[in-house]
Amino acid sequence: MQLYKDQALRIHNSLTGKKDLFEPINEGHVGMYVCGPTVYSNVHLGNCRTFMSFDMIFRYFKHLGYKVRYVRNITDAGHLENDADEGEDKIAKKAKLEQIEPMEVVQRYTVDFHNTLQQFNLLPPSIEPTATGHIIEQIEIIKEILEKGLAYEVNGSVYFDVVKFNENHDYGKLSGRKLEDMITHTRELTAQDDKRNPQDFALWKKAEPQHIMRWPSPWGDGFPGWHLECTAMSTKYLGETFDIHGGGMDLKFPHHECEIAQAEASTGKSPVNYWMHANMLTLNGRKMSKSTDNNIYPAEIFSGDNNILSKPYTPSVVRFFMMQAHYTSILDLSDEALQASEKGYNRLMDALENVNNLKTGDTSDFDVTAWKQMCYDAMNDDFNTPILIAQLFEAVKHINLIKEDQETISKEDKTLLANTLNAFVYDVLGIENQSMTKDDSNALSGVMELLIDIRNEARANKDFATSDKIRDELVALGIQLKDGKDGTTFSLN
Ligand SMILES: [Zn+2]
Repeated sequence: MQLYKDQALRIHNSLTGKKDLFEPINEGHVGMYVCGPTVYSNVHLGNCRTFMSFDMIFRYFKHLGYKVRYVRNITDAGHLENDADEGEDKIAKKAKLEQIEPMEVVQRYTVDFHNTLQQFNLLPPSIEPTATGHIIEQIEIIKEILEKGLAYEVNGSVYFDVVKFNENHDYGKLSGRKLEDMITHTRELTAQDDKRNPQDFALWKKAEPQHIMRWPSPWGDGFPGWHLECTAMSTKYLGETFDIHGGGMDLKFPHHECEIAQAEASTGKSPVNYWMHANMLTLNGRKMSKSTDNNIYPAEIFSGDNNILSKPYTPSVVRFFMMQAHYTSILDLSDEALQASEKGYNRLMDALENVNNLKTGDTSDFDVTAWKQMCYDAMNDDFNTPILIAQLFEAVKHINLIKEDQETISKEDKTLLANTLNAFVYDVLGIENQSMTKDDSNALSGVMELLIDIRNEARANKDFATSDKIRDELVALGIQLKDGKDGTTFSLN
């Protein structure tokens, strides 16, 4: 269904600073690129929030009936420690520390990244390219920029000439900076620096003899600059100009500014129509940081194994919590906030179960058609999930009133209400029903203990027909019994 024909979607565009009406380059199609992770450590919750925001955006486009090509890369080379052009490669450094191959580091943390995002119910992107798989494409872009005279080679490294580029282009237009201001506020070049100007950035870096991650190039053995991979992979799969480029707010400068410069220098075209930036997650009111220990990993939330938490939370509760804030706002995570989200989540899940069992009448006290459009209006206003969720709770209120016979709903409206709720909660927000409460899980443990006792008694009485029946029927329900020397345990598949 081409719902997009009836919905006018506006997107906050970092390039214009306004909410622009979304008009795709090719009708019915969306090309979207999002900067992926540098895979040298476990993915932290702040990164998860960014990818979850773009997953919701991806899902809404799909819901509207667009064919979406969503490209999200894996940075497996070229990202240096200090984000400038100095220091060690983050992945090579970790490999040295753990005495393993860089590609073992990449493999380990790519698997962690995928597992974590799957727990949060993120859809996989359409294409997930890697930097090391696109070295040739990156070298080709460098050649084009050199040909245009907007880069220069020094001692086996190639740098982008920002000052020269700025003569005919606007370096800083995305982040709202002016090159003149940047120049007055930066340090002088040091004697050993190969760059002509401090603002220039590396397209290709010469590999020192000890640098393990290296590739041959026309300028000698080296490795690509971090900004270049995204230009190479986005334009390869989405075209020289594509619809949407997203990423975390912290990537706006210099990473995305440099991407624009590289693309404009090599193709002469502006690469992206809508730039989108997702905001960060703080923890107990402070910026998350590994060095200050103000940090939390997804696995710690799911197990409750972190001092700031009073209990574990399911991935769906965490996702619901994230969706309660607009993606461009800073969101603060705390135990109290998660508890409040869990309550809301449980109310929503209860309503989704109750809606199917509502009695219907001849008329409706709740204007479901108008409510449905208000849900779309919220999402059409720059993916405003907090307003959407407020609308969902408006429906919850009516579901509860109808359940208590204080309001009525017609058969058609009940179907429309159930379908709309399901679509927005499960398809668009990507929330799953994982609402097994503590009471449910206590009850399950009690029932399982009872069944295991009955089975043990049957076995003691050599009544194998009964004991096998219990085991087999449980398997059919997805519950495995395991007999060990300390007794029988069970696990859910
Ligand atoms: Zn990027």
